Amino acid sequence: MKKALVCGAGGFIGGHLVNRLKSEGYWVRGVDLKENEYGNMSADEFVVGDLRDINVVRKTVTEDLDEIYQLAADMGGAGFVFTGDNDADIMHNSALCNLNVLDEASKKGVAKIFYSSSACMYPEYNQLDPDNPKCSEDSAYPAAPDSEYGWEKLFSERLFLTYQRNTGIDVKVARFHNIFGPQGTWDGGREKAPAAICRKVAMAKEGDAIEVWGDGLQTRSFLIVDECVEGIRRLMESDFNGPVNIGSEEMISINDFTKMIADISGKDLSIKNIEGPTGVRGRNSDNALIAEKLGWSPSEPLRKGVERTFQWISEQIAERERNGG
Ligand code: NAD
Repeated sequence: MKKALVCGAGGFIGGHLVNRLKSEGYWVRGVDLKENEYGNMSADEFVVGDLRDINVVRKTVTEDLDEIYQLAADMGGAGFVFTGDNDADIMHNSALCNLNVLDEASKKGVAKIFYSSSACMYPEYNQLDPDNPKCSEDSAYPAAPDSEYGWEKLFSERLFLTYQRNTGIDVKVARFHNIFGPQGTWDGGREKAPAAICRKVAMAKEGDAIEVWGDGLQTRSFLIVDECVEGIRRLMESDFNGPVNIGSEEMISINDFTKMIADISGKDLSIKNIEGPTGVRGRNSDNALIAEKLGWSPSEPLRKGVERTFQWISEQIAERERNGG
């Protein structure tokens, strides 16, 4: 039986990844600062611990592991990443987790390690035109991410690739593009646009205006978490190291995305564009490389994933209301 460690298993993608590995017959250890909020807790062993602490890392990164998935990071949506208020934490905490886990994995002779980078590492100058952003893997340099979160991801990508080069460890690096779905953060300040808009729409009354940050003409693509996990597993099983995009190519403006969610809700709602952090003007995954190297790329239509996510967030809100708000 293969043994895997999922770092960040208490988080959104980590929780789904644990379930996926379990369904494939793995023995799984999870580690995170916190248990999974939404009950994605199928790991055989779960360590509540801080990966900035080398003693926790020594205890959780053990010789018997076949694979490590390093997803732990201090992260959130635009309200967390683009205000500047959390920059020191983002850089320090995430870099320290990466430095500790990777070095320990290499010392303990773990064969393979996955690292989750982000599309936020792509240069801002290629993402100024909302209708025509460029995010092919080879467009990363000259580097100019628009956030410290992106710079940290770029540093850590390079860190992982140095270990690939200088030690025996097999490294896999993916750049995720806006992953969303059930069991993701939907409230509290760290939620990302899909969850935040689903929440606003679910809580709105007939005729309300939904507040959308910026002019809403900024574009993005969003990938349902199941396809993200599929991409992670395919990359891990391949002989390709990356970095490679794992994202959707179905680009949409944030206003149109909001209209889609309103339509799913069946409510008659309008949009009110307000000031707020928005990030780059346009971003879309470029899936040419993943299709070439893995013979696969995500294909589920956006609307299908949004329907499931909207349903789940509506249920969360109803449950919260039942429990007294
Ligand atoms: P998440 O915040 O739900 O999960 C990250 C987890 O890491 C959290 O549960 C957090 O508690 C844990 N963590 C943070 N610091 C830690 C520490 N010091 N020790 C132990 N655990 C710690 O985020 P997610 O959406 O599941 O993202 C997973 C990874 O994918 C992250 O590296 C993120 O940067 C990357 N990513 C996500 C997206 C996305 O759209 N969700 C996009 C690009 C990249």
